[in-house]
Amino acid sequence: MCIALAVSASAAADTIVLKNGRRIVAENVTDDGTRVTYQTPAGQLTIPKSIVARIEHDDFTYSSASSASSQPPVSAPQVEPVRGYEDVAARAVHGDAVDYSYIAQLETDARSGATIAVAKVAAAHHAAAQYLVGKGDTDAAIQQYRQALVFAPQNVGLLLNLAVLYLRESQFTTALDPLERARRAAPDSADVAKLMGWAYYGANKIDQAIEEWQRSERLRPDPEVEQALEKARRDKSEEDSYREGETVHFDLKYYGGAAPDLARGILRTLEDDFRDLESQLDYTPPERIAVILYTEQAFADITRAPGWVGALNDGRLRIPVQGLTSVTPELAHVLKHELTHSFVGQKSHNRAPTWLQEGVAQWMEGRRSSGDAGALINAAGQGMVPQLGAMGGSWMGLSGNAAAFAYAWSLAVVESIIDAGGVSDISRLLDRIATTSSTEVALQETLHLSYDDLNQQTVAYLKRAYLR
Ligand SMILES: [Zn+2]
Repeated sequence: MCIALAVSASAAADTIVLKNGRRIVAENVTDDGTRVTYQTPAGQLTIPKSIVARIEHDDFTYSSASSASSQPPVSAPQVEPVRGYEDVAARAVHGDAVDYSYIAQLETDARSGATIAVAKVAAAHHAAAQYLVGKGDTDAAIQQYRQALVFAPQNVGLLLNLAVLYLRESQFTTALDPLERARRAAPDSADVAKLMGWAYYGANKIDQAIEEWQRSERLRPDPEVEQALEKARRDKSEEDSYREGETVHFDLKYYGGAAPDLARGILRTLEDDFRDLESQLDYTPPERIAVILYTEQAFADITRAPGWVGALNDGRLRIPVQGLTSVTPELAHVLKHELTHSFVGQKSHNRAPTWLQEGVAQWMEGRRSSGDAGALINAAGQGMVPQLGAMGGSWMGLSGNAAAFAYAWSLAVVESIIDAGGVSDISRLLDRIATTSSTEVALQETLHLSYDDLNQQTVAYLKRAYLR
């Protein structure tokens, strides 16, 4: 989502808070139970209620919620792979570290296949994985479960915990593999069905998601699953009225009103953008990306219409296209910008701070700081450099000018990083953010810069590049 240069908060403004933590300031917000409608300078925009967490009226208090972590449809069940091995768990993780040599010893003992030795391996890897999850290193935790499964391939607890980690990383198709193995081992597990529903839902296979959650309900009624099921049924009836198009990386849906040529043009543009982002950011999103065209919403170039939310990215790209018959340069910018958010979000496991998200998205769509450099250098000269540490969450508490400044500064920061070390530095930074507890630590470890250093580098870059 891009809120370009948000207008200053007028008394009539409300804030729509999306389930992914992002916020939209809008006027005349109405909620009819299934859809939320609001006014923008370019007309009325409607978004499905299913993506909205709440609407705040005249309330501009800061939310400390992280800016872009998508809310899973159901929570992960707590399933212990084995019980009664607390001593093993305590030895596998102690002194704030995983004891890999102890685990290696357990694995050597377990080669005999003895039941107790295998259970110890499962307990140790599970403890190590949970510790690594707590540290934010999901990839390393996944390795722990995969290693444990070599010894205990049918352990439902290990399989489910592994699946949950894939699901949290949006690797929905990959998650199906351990889930299918878990189903063979435990055909009547409600937890397996619950998680399979999550996997299918995430992969946009709504029919199969509904089937799995129904099965889960039959096996063990669960209010949470019931709610997810209801939401999936609503999504299905909404999406049944869409037409569809599909390419290698995208699933496109649109109401009948869109010109088929426009839909094809958008898919072609997105495929080109995908290949470009894939090579620039050295990352391939694991799942097809869903794109929804809103044919009844007026299109406005977000970069030129203050206060207008031109497009949304809540995991799906939602693009208003009314009045367009082909991909205009402005639409092309919006598509690249929103698709970049998908790449940056997924590559960083939804941890990239807002300044980095918006900086990279603007850079990828082709914006540069030339027009703003003078004002940014002046502001810096007066000691008005923004604190990057405070720009990681929502920007909606900012006034209109401050928000415009935040976008411009973020672009300049990203430009300076790319100027110093190429786009590959952005790629490395995102990878590190995915596995590190804080952005500043990741910045220090990859680029050897503190936030202050980065701001100084940005000022020096702006002067060098634009003051002549
Ligand atoms: Zn944006």
